[in-house]
Amino acid sequence: MARILITSALPYINGIKHLGNLVGSQLPSDLYARYMRARGHEVMFICATDEHGTPAELAAAKAKKPVAEYCAEMHEVQAELARGFRLSFDHFGRSSSPENHALTQHLAGRLKAAGLISEVSEKQIYSNADGRFLPDRYIEGTCPNCGYERARGDQCEECTKQLDPTDLINSRSAISGSTDLEVRETKHLFLRQKAMRDQLRAWIKSKSDWPVLTTSIALKWLDDGDGLQDRGITRDLDWGIPVKDGEKDWPGMEGKVFYVWFDAPIEYIAATAEWAHARGLGDDAWERWWRTDKGAEDVRYVQFMGKDNVPFHTLSFPATLMGSGEPWKLVDYIKSFNYLNYDGGQFSTSLGRGVFMDDALSILPADYWRWWLLSHAPESSDSEFTWENFQASVNKDLADVLGNLVSRVTKFCRSKFGEVVPEGGAFGPREDKLIADLTERLRAYEDMMEAIEVRKSAGELRALWVLGNEYLQEAAPWSTFKTAPETAAAQVRLALNLIRLYAVVSQPFIPDAAQAIMTALNCDDWSWPDDTRTALATLPAGHAFTTPDVLFAKITDEQREDWQARFSGRRA
Ligand SMILES: [Zn+2]
Repeated sequence: MARILITSALPYINGIKHLGNLVGSQLPSDLYARYMRARGHEVMFICATDEHGTPAELAAAKAKKPVAEYCAEMHEVQAELARGFRLSFDHFGRSSSPENHALTQHLAGRLKAAGLISEVSEKQIYSNADGRFLPDRYIEGTCPNCGYERARGDQCEECTKQLDPTDLINSRSAISGSTDLEVRETKHLFLRQKAMRDQLRAWIKSKSDWPVLTTSIALKWLDDGDGLQDRGITRDLDWGIPVKDGEKDWPGMEGKVFYVWFDAPIEYIAATAEWAHARGLGDDAWERWWRTDKGAEDVRYVQFMGKDNVPFHTLSFPATLMGSGEPWKLVDYIKSFNYLNYDGGQFSTSLGRGVFMDDALSILPADYWRWWLLSHAPESSDSEFTWENFQASVNKDLADVLGNLVSRVTKFCRSKFGEVVPEGGAFGPREDKLIADLTERLRAYEDMMEAIEVRKSAGELRALWVLGNEYLQEAAPWSTFKTAPETAAAQVRLALNLIRLYAVVSQPFIPDAAQAIMTALNCDDWSWPDDTRTALATLPAGHAFTTPDVLFAKITDEQREDWQARFSGRRA
C-alpha cells in the first residue's frame, strides 16, 4: 500500500466555476484519488478556496458585503457544487484559515532568516479619500486609446489595450470615485527567486517523468530573457494575511498583507492541517503527509492544475518551501492541462460564456458531465465542448454501451430466472476468451490510470464495456435459453458478475451510476478485480438482486437544441 498526497489547484473565491475550470484540475484529481483509493492505497486529497487578493475585494464590494462574509458564503456555494459533482476531497479548506495565516507567516519568517527576502521601494498610487494604496485595477479613467470612460488601470476592457494607471485620463478611485490621487512611495517584500535559480533548475531537471507541457513551461520561466525574476510577495491591501515574521511584527510592513500567490499554494499544507484539526487530530496527523522528517518520506505527491498555474507550482512555491530550509515534502509529479473551449469560442467567467457548474447540475446528473469532461480532457492540446459531441458521447458510451448492457442482462435474467443469480451450467471457450480479453484490457486500463493519462483511461474503460456487449451479442443467452437453459444460466451468471466488475472499475469516472449498479445488485464488495476469473464469481448462484431503473437517459435533439440556445450568450 502506497501513500499518495493529491492536491487540486485552488478555485478562486469570486464566483461559480465553469466546466473548463472543473476539468483543468478538480475533476481529474478526483478521478485519480478515487482510483488510488479503489486500489487500496492511502490517499490524502486536498483542495480549498483561494480567497485573498483584489478580485475577492471587488466581488465582495459588488455584492455589497464585507469581504470575510462574502468569502464564507461563496466557499459554501463552491463546497456544495463540489459535493454535487462528487469531488471526493478529504478536505476542502479555505486559504483564509487560521492555519494558513500561521504557516504563511512562519514560512516568510524562515525565508527572511535565510536571507531570501529583499525589501524594495516602489511608487504606487495612493487615494487620500480611501486612505489606501490602489492596485492597478482599482483605478479607473478614460482610455487614451479608444476613449472608453471606465477603463481600468491595468487594461481597457473595451479595446483590450494594456495600460499603466498613469496612462488614464481623469483617473479616479474605483472604490470611492475620488480623483484625489497621488503617487506615493511604498515598500514591498520580494522573494529572491533569482538566488535560487540553480537549485530550482537542478530540481526540475531531476524530474524526468514530468509531462513535457509542465517542464517546458517551468524551464521557459527559469531561463527565457533575463531569466527568473525576484517576485513581489506583499500588497497594500486590507484583505489577506498580515505580513509578519513568524509570530513577530515585521517593522515597516505594518498594514500590508502577503500577495495571494504567495499564500495560496501554502494552503495545500494548511488545508491538511485544517483537516486534522477538524477531526480533533494532532499536528502529527498532517505532518506525516508534509514533513519528510515526520513520516512523509514515502509519500508520493501529485499536483493537478491548468497550464497557467504551472510557473507558480514549479518555481515560486518550491522556492518558498526549499528556501525555508525545513524538510517540506516537494511535489513528485505535476499533471497540467490545456484549455477546454466552448462551442466555437472560449469559456469566460467575466463574460459569463459557457456552462457553469451550477447550470450543469441543474440539467443533468454529475456522471454525464464527469464522463464527457474526463473522456475529452484537454491533455495534449486544447479541446472543445460542443453540444453535438456531448450528446453523441453520452448517448453512445453511457446509454448504448454501458446502460444498455446493464438493462438487458438484468431484465433478461428477471424474465427467465427471476431476480436471483442463476445456477447451473459451466463456462466454455467463449467465456475463457472473454476473461482473457477482459484481463488484458484491465491491465491496460490500470496502466493508463497509474500514468494519469485521463483520455486514454476513458478509452480503455469504454473498451472494457464494449467487450461485455460483444460477448452478450455472441453468446445470445436469449437464444441459447431455448435449447440449452443451463448454458444460458452460466452466461447470465457471468454477465451479472461482469456488471459488478464494471461498477467497481468505472466508479472513479461515474461514481453515482456505479453505486446504483451495486445497490441493484445488492452487493457491497468493491474489491478490485486483480484476478478477473475470481472477480466474475463474486456474486454466487442464488444471490438476489433488483432490476435497476434506466441508468442513463439519452439526450434528445430537442434537449440539445434547447440547452445550446440557453447557454449561448451571457449568463445572468
Ligand atoms: Zn480602450
